[in-house]
Parts: sequence; structure tokens; C-alpha cells
Amino acid sequence: MKAKRWHDYLWVASALYLVLGFINILFAWLGLICFLVPLLIAAIQGTKGYCNTYCGRGQLLQLLGGKLGLSRNKDIPAWLRSSWFRYGFLLFFLAMFSNMLFTTYLVFAGAKSLREVVTLLWTFKLPWHWANTSLVAPWVAQFAFGFYSLMLTSTILALITMALFKPRSWCVYCPMGTMTHTICKLKHGKDAVYEVRSPSQAAS
Ligand code: SF4
Repeated sequence: MKAKRWHDYLWVASALYLVLGFINILFAWLGLICFLVPLLIAAIQGTKGYCNTYCGRGQLLQLLGGKLGLSRNKDIPAWLRSSWFRYGFLLFFLAMFSNMLFTTYLVFAGAKSLREVVTLLWTFKLPWHWANTSLVAPWVAQFAFGFYSLMLTSTILALITMALFKPRSWCVYCPMGTMTHTICKLKHGKDAVYEVRSPSQAAS
């Protein structure tokens, strides 16, 4: 059996991240690591090394859906794999991300006051008043609320997709996966696409 390496346990960090948001919303800032590192690896190395080795969320889905049997293990439908859906979802996700940044800017500029809520699935607003945000500027806290909302929302979608289909089916339309896939494709050109982990492989 292959010996475990430190990066095989990054699922612990992913699970811990979700818990820490309940303790203090400011921990949400740590999620930026999961945004920047995959893009940097893809841009510098031209690989999906983050997805294949370092993504704690991917490992967590594999663990819950695979080892713990919480997945029906069915093939994902073709429409979920299609380019129009993956890129459409990426555009939608980026639009929501931009909206979150704009709200943060409005709070920074004093045009809006801090709203201590976490929004799930871009719809359901949960009051999150226990977070002590008095030590930081309101915009710093606003970003944390917005970013944690995105992270929780994408986790819920990932878990639903895991339960309905194969454990890592979320990876097929994960916005980070789509972005790194695109960067790798651009970096290598068409002939070298074989080096890039394809969405279909990601769902196995
Ligand atoms: S596609 Fe997304 S969830 Fe899956 S391994 Fe890559 S970054 Fe992680």
C-alpha cells in the first residue's frame, strides 16, 4: 500500500475551514488560499497539480462519497459535463463573486453598512451575529461574510452532487476546476491537452 503523504490529509483543513467559520467569520479569509494557489500552479506550471494533489475539498468528497459510502455512485448526466453548463456556471459564479467584491467596496466606501449574514445558495440569509468583528474594519468583515457564503454554498452543491452521482462529480463543474482547466489548455495549446486532467477523469 502506498504510504500516505502530508498532502493526503488536506481534507482535514477543508473540513476545519467550514467549522472555523462558525467560530469566527474572519477565518473565511483563509479560503483565499484555495482560490489563489490553484490559479498560480496552473499559470506557472501549466498543470492541474492542485486538483490532483492538494485540493482538500476533492479529498473530502472522495472520503465521504467513496470510503463512507455516502454517494449513489451513479454517472453524472451529460448536460452537467457539457461545456455550456461548465462555462455558464463559471460565469454565474464569477458574477456572484464580483457582486460580493462590489458589496465589500460599498462598505469600504461607507455607502453601505456591514450586514452580518451568511447567504446560502445565493438566496437564504442566515443571521451570523455571534461573530466578533469589532477588531477589524467593517469591509474586512463584509468580505469574510461574502466569501464564507460562497464557500458554504459551493460546499452544499458539492455534497449534493456527491450524494446523487459519483463522489467527485462536483469537480466536473467546479469553477476553480474549470478555470485551471482553461489556463492549462491555453498554456499548452491544443496538442498538449492530454497533460491536463479532464472533467471526465475528475468525476471518477
Ligand atoms: S475541481 Fe475544484 S473541488 Fe475538484 S479538485 Fe479541483 S479545485 Fe478541488
